[in-house]
Amino acid sequence: METIFSKIINKEIPADILYEDDLSLVFNDTQPQAPTHLLIIPKKPIPKLSDASEEDKALLGHLMWVAGEIARTLDLDETFRLVVNNGAKAGQSVFHLHLHLLSGRPLQWPPG
Ligand code: AMP
Repeated sequence: METIFSKIINKEIPADILYEDDLSLVFNDTQPQAPTHLLIIPKKPIPKLSDASEEDKALLGHLMWVAGEIARTLDLDETFRLVVNNGAKAGQSVFHLHLHLLSGRPLQWPPG
């Protein structure tokens, strides 16, 4: 299913892209919930994490690697949080798998 993130991947709509490779894309969230709020997405249109299959294991690992790499590149001082909202009741609004990377302010625990 086509989502707004597919349109960003296909460059049909603009985004503030910080990183791109064959498998993934990283761009700024347009409604940031922290001074740094990035979205790390696979180019493959997996709607949500619980839809990923065994063949996606390496891709999921790649997304985690990209998150760590971009945090190092942006010198986020080893203080950041990754969030995956899975399903509407967990706050997912775009049904194309994405990792939120939040940083730049104190992050409370437990999250709301
Ligand atoms: P979620 O609610 O977990 O599905 O997260 C979706 C995120 O995508 C939200 O934080 C939105 O602010 C963000 N978002 C929606 N449209 C865009 C867009 N065109 N460019 C960047 N971020 C977006």
